[in-house]
Amino acid sequence: MKKFPDNAVAILFSGGDSPGMNSLLRAVSRLGLNRHGVEVLGIREGYRGLLRAARQCNGDEKALHCMKQEIADRRGLQGLHSPGQDIVWLDHAVCSGIAGMGGTILCSARCDEFKKSEKARAEVIAFLKALGIRALIVCGGDGSLRGAECLEREGGIRVIGIPCTIDNDLLFTDMSIGVHTAVGTLVWAVDHIKDTARAHRRVMILETMGAKRGELALRAALASGAEMIITPEQGLLTIERMTKMARDIEEGMIGGRSHCIVLVAEGVEIEGDASADSHIKKRNRAYVINDIFNAHFQREGGPFREVLEVRPSVLGHLQRGGHPTASDCILAARFAELAWHSIMDRNEGSGITALRNNKPELVGLTAGPMPERAELVESFTRLHEALSSW
Ligand code: ADP
Repeated sequence: MKKFPDNAVAILFSGGDSPGMNSLLRAVSRLGLNRHGVEVLGIREGYRGLLRAARQCNGDEKALHCMKQEIADRRGLQGLHSPGQDIVWLDHAVCSGIAGMGGTILCSARCDEFKKSEKARAEVIAFLKALGIRALIVCGGDGSLRGAECLEREGGIRVIGIPCTIDNDLLFTDMSIGVHTAVGTLVWAVDHIKDTARAHRRVMILETMGAKRGELALRAALASGAEMIITPEQGLLTIERMTKMARDIEEGMIGGRSHCIVLVAEGVEIEGDASADSHIKKRNRAYVINDIFNAHFQREGGPFREVLEVRPSVLGHLQRGGHPTASDCILAARFAELAWHSIMDRNEGSGITALRNNKPELVGLTAGPMPERAELVESFTRLHEALSSW
């Protein structure tokens, strides 16, 4: 009979998933077993699974003992395939063949109760201590990493955060796991849309993910040749600005341009969003812009009236899926290596893995933004403008 491992490392995936999470799971598990001789426990569905498991034991020693025994008895794939088992003792077989898969085999989730209730977090903290883990690796975006910081601050749990998000909105690192793949997916989408835009002489508005920042859209525009880009960083999108964009498109078409692709990040605030009776805020950005552009192109006496059509598309969750690129898999392996290095170093406490000047570095759980990130966005914006003017 196998014995539940003492002093294991636990790992969870939380918030929006990003391509490369499975590659990261494999790297963390393999490095633990092969390089450090430390067992790894995978927690299903992020903080939600952790809270559920904590409540299953509810501080009861006997229930905890039973849970540990079940986890040990069903090590590996058996545990992964057991419905209702929130903690899986990872072995080599669980992580075999997953490096190139999108999503996460441990599943990710959001858990509002964990965010809002200190009492719920206290239950999780007591449970993690009762499990006897040496560290918790939290893989996710901004919210997930804030949750990790709470576990350290409120309960002294040693946590290592690993940035996973397609938005690249974690400003203490040059790159997060998933960005590279998602940009590639967007470029693929723009290429497809461009074919039909050209065939019909159309203006295509594509809404991308990016709730707070538009770097995903900006990188995709640079790579794909999409002519226009609208991001939250540019500030409020007024009717006047949209009309000016429509006029610029018209001028480009008079000059010989056959089509136009506009990328808009989902988080862009549009004039009228804030008004209480507004229905604008409930609508996708691409549809609102579509209406303003159409009104302009179809105006009485306009040069392209009844000729120029606009089509909006919301790309949605398509952007999160797909095989991770080699770059994302390599970043996952490098972050996993640094996470283990920090965990095995007795003097290092908690922290988040970051990529700075192409070197993985551990930064504090409350690390602030690097000025270089804002500078990069500005230079990318200028470069895009220079590349796309007609
Ligand atoms: P992401 O990690 O992708 O940014 P969310 O912001 O939805 O995704 O956060 C994922 C989860 O992290 C939340 O559902 C919640 O459980 C936890 N979380 C988010 N923000 C906080 C916070 N400020 N304090 C504690 N936990 C948080």
